[in-house]
Amino acid sequence: MFGGCLVWRSHTFDILHKLFINNEWHKSKSGKTFGSINPATEKQVAEIQCAGKEDVDIAVQAARTAFKVGSPWRRMDASERGVHINRLADLLERDRVYLASLETLDNGKPYAVAYNVDVPTAVKNLRYFAGWADKNHGKTVPMDGDYFAYTRHEPVGVCAQIIPWNFPILMMAWKLGPALATGNTIVLKPAEQTSLTALYIAELVKEAGFPEGVVNVLPGFGEAGAALANHYDVDKVAFTGSTEVGKLIQQASGHTNLKRVTLELGGKSPNIVLADTDLDYAVESAHFGLFFNMGQTCCAGSRTFVEEKIYDEFVERSAERAKKRTLGNPFELHVEQGPQVDQEQLHRILGMIEEGKKQGAKLVAGGNRPDHLPGYFVEPTVFADVHDHMTIAREEIFGPVQQLIRFKSLDEVIERANNSDYGLAAAVFTRDLDKANYVVQGLRAGTVWVNTYNAFGAQMPFGGYKMSGHGRENGEYALQNYTEVKSVIMKITQKNS
Ligand code: NAP
Ligand code: MG
Repeated sequence: MFGGCLVWRSHTFDILHKLFINNEWHKSKSGKTFGSINPATEKQVAEIQCAGKEDVDIAVQAARTAFKVGSPWRRMDASERGVHINRLADLLERDRVYLASLETLDNGKPYAVAYNVDVPTAVKNLRYFAGWADKNHGKTVPMDGDYFAYTRHEPVGVCAQIIPWNFPILMMAWKLGPALATGNTIVLKPAEQTSLTALYIAELVKEAGFPEGVVNVLPGFGEAGAALANHYDVDKVAFTGSTEVGKLIQQASGHTNLKRVTLELGGKSPNIVLADTDLDYAVESAHFGLFFNMGQTCCAGSRTFVEEKIYDEFVERSAERAKKRTLGNPFELHVEQGPQVDQEQLHRILGMIEEGKKQGAKLVAGGNRPDHLPGYFVEPTVFADVHDHMTIAREEIFGPVQQLIRFKSLDEVIERANNSDYGLAAAVFTRDLDKANYVVQGLRAGTVWVNTYNAFGAQMPFGGYKMSGHGRENGEYALQNYTEVKSVIMKITQKNS
């Protein structure tokens, strides 16, 4: 099945390993390549051309040319941009099976998730922003004096988009949708672990009829990201990934042309469970909030705070649930958990588990690499008796490792939940609306879920407080990331004729 995926649409075999610039496929100037691994088998599935600085220069130039006033893209009606984005969404829908298969092959996520979540959610996202294409308009302003004053919403220009490996198709849609709707041009760099679906979608961009140079896709490993962040002719960088790289990108902006930067970075999201909640539902929701996507989710509920009265029961049920989680070949439909994305992540996670044990947290489920499976699997792991100072309660693990932390009162838990460098997401489970409102107001996080977790919609903004980043993706707010506001002031001369 794995081999079959790559040749199902025969032409794709040729395109999935090159650079996409000006609607054409190119080899890298240096001739360097890197391998893409199937994390479920640890075998290489593709050898991909590696974009370097020279290729970045060419792609940025292509995007700049496509952005020139008078170019087909700049002259295109805004509504027509929406038609193009919708066409791209149609093509993702048409090739849903192929895209989901490719994602599972390259990333290791369960096919059922790639097919039922990643692809359709990406489609919805593109359609949502297609609708915005002719609605992101300025205002007329009653400025003092004899003036006709109005604002124009204009595209920022050439945008570099550096997307992560945890939701490659979806993150590509989150980035492309608002940037294209507002008329920008793009150089997108996928994560080296998961370039294949981005390259396939590049071919769909061409098929959808976007003019050349509007979307360029550069697979790369080790050089292209920094080259984009440091480029003088890039107007904006949008990045999703680690806080560490986010800081480097912000510095690069400061050292070069003050390009606009939006960042969606890490998290250590608190999930607060009050004693009055429906226990079975809260246990299952907390399990889903952490273990979804092998724990490789920026908003994972990786600090589960449980009220003292129900703590022991919650620990027992959470451990039971984690032990029942099904691991295995991600192409099998009953499988809930595939491998971690690569060996580096695997070792990082296993290292964190050791750290947890050393610092005195109580391991109540998992803790090892399963010995009956090839691939970068980690057993669903649950720690109880976790304290706030422990490394596993402070640092992002980005793996299937749940931390159960005890608390006594609302004020105490709000303060402890906020005692983090991060502020991406949070949740509260309770039947008491007053308590829910109190917690919602108290938490410093970009998203707060009440009695649910990981609920996303193209219409709702998503992004972080504090070191979880800045800017908001999705919803109307995302348009601001890709829009410059121009003030136009015209003198009105009185005529007395
Ligand atoms: P990462 O280090 O955050 O990001 C790697 C990406 O950043 C690559 O595309 C890389 O491109 C680019 N990059 C590296 N240095 C750069 C620079 N100076 N300027 C611009 N771009 C640069 O990802 P990772 O190493 O795979 O993951 C590390 C941790 O990040 C994970 O453990 C997890 O905690 C977090 N993470 C978070 C998310 C999220 O959704 N927020 C997603 C993935 C990972 P080159 O290869 O060209 O250098
Ligand atoms: Mg891979």
